[in-house]
Amino acid sequence: RFFYQGHGGYGSMNLGGKVPLGLKRKGLRIVVTGGAGFVGSHLVDRLIARGDSVIVVDNFFTGRKENVMHHFGNPRFELIRHDVVEPLLLEVDQIYHLACPASPVHYKFNPTNVVGTLNMLGLAKRVGARFLLTSTSEVYGDPLQHPQVETYWGNVNPIGVRSCYDEGKRTAETLTMDYHRGAGVEVRIARIFNTYGPRMCIDDGRVVSNFVAQALRKEPLTVYGDGKQTRSFQYVSDLVEGLMRLMEGEHVGPFNLGNPGEFTMLELAQVVQETIDPNAKIEFKPNTEDDPHKRKPDITRAKDLLGWEPKVSLRKGLPLMVTDFRQRIFGDHKEDGG
Ligand code: NAD
Ligand code: UDP
Ligand code: UDP
Repeated sequence: RFFYQGHGGYGSMNLGGKVPLGLKRKGLRIVVTGGAGFVGSHLVDRLIARGDSVIVVDNFFTGRKENVMHHFGNPRFELIRHDVVEPLLLEVDQIYHLACPASPVHYKFNPTNVVGTLNMLGLAKRVGARFLLTSTSEVYGDPLQHPQVETYWGNVNPIGVRSCYDEGKRTAETLTMDYHRGAGVEVRIARIFNTYGPRMCIDDGRVVSNFVAQALRKEPLTVYGDGKQTRSFQYVSDLVEGLMRLMEGEHVGPFNLGNPGEFTMLELAQVVQETIDPNAKIEFKPNTEDDPHKRKPDITRAKDLLGWEPKVSLRKGLPLMVTDFRQRIFGDHKEDGG
């Protein structure tokens, strides 16, 4: 796809998202739904830096203007306050669809995953844009296979407290494949595993943000259940690299994008203690219903087909997030570069 700069959006040829050899790429017009959120805002930074024009569509449910404010005034950046559950008319080359209430305390009773995804697929179909869905490792539910490969169909409770998210994303994947097969929309599916980093919501209940905020505030780290359940934690820059490779590549997926390093919640608490405060206390709390016992991505497919693998370990990535959290919690504006 080729974008004639200087036009308001009517000059793009439909070349299926690919830049033909010999044509120098001028920059694409890209929508990032949920672009004011944690992952989305880091993606927007990379796309803007690459020379693309970016339209962020966000209803600020969990996202924040502060995450993208540094692009205000850039003619290649636009921010639209919009709920993707409502139809949206735009002319673009690519759609990164991230809009979703992504944490357990936010995602209940929200139709974003189904209706929002349908609308963005409708948009992709109308304008011939390539569409990337950010699905989740939660489609594997409480997995009976370990580590999880993309061919595993999952073990999800359809009526559980988490099912609005799990089943919502599973439906979003179904819609995405139906638009691909039925309407010829070019699609990409990423299944994202737990990701952390700067700009993560401070109080949305995720384990990494909880532990880091608690350690900084000198509160005990709340470990749910016995703390032996595992997760693998991916640093946000690794994820963004994976998403961009997936969008630009030839393969539909789904692709697991996650860091295969596997930690129990007690081990995570220990890394947080080592990084922030060795004296931080641990407090055990009852676990939530249907909490998956184990989770770890098999990333062979992404390695082979996208040439991608994570580069930032938990011990390297955590301090980068701590710098950001410290500034946001204590309003400490010292620029120490992390
Ligand atoms: P986030 O909450 O920071 O970002 C989501 C963004 O979507 C927010 O800016 C929010 O305001 C916006 N949004 C929500 N509902 C909307 C709606 N109806 N219309 C418009 N905007 C809406 O979360 P994140 O961690 O950045 O997640 C981004 C995507 O990645 C989500 O689709 C999420 O499911 C997926 N994902 C994230 C993780 C992770 O660990 N961070 C793991 C798996 C999947
Ligand atoms: N849609 C949208 N923007 C567009 C095109 C479609 O938001 O540019 C929405 C549209 O309102 C509909 C959904 O996407 O709710 C699915 O569109 P599609 O054309 O696939 O289905 P139809 O309208 O034919 O049911
Ligand atoms: N968890 C925890 N303490 C917290 C928050 C979460 O021990 O303060 C646990 C939670 O029970 C789960 C794991 O950490 O087993 C990951 O939870 P999170 O909500 O971050 O991600 P998800 O369950 O979606 O993978």
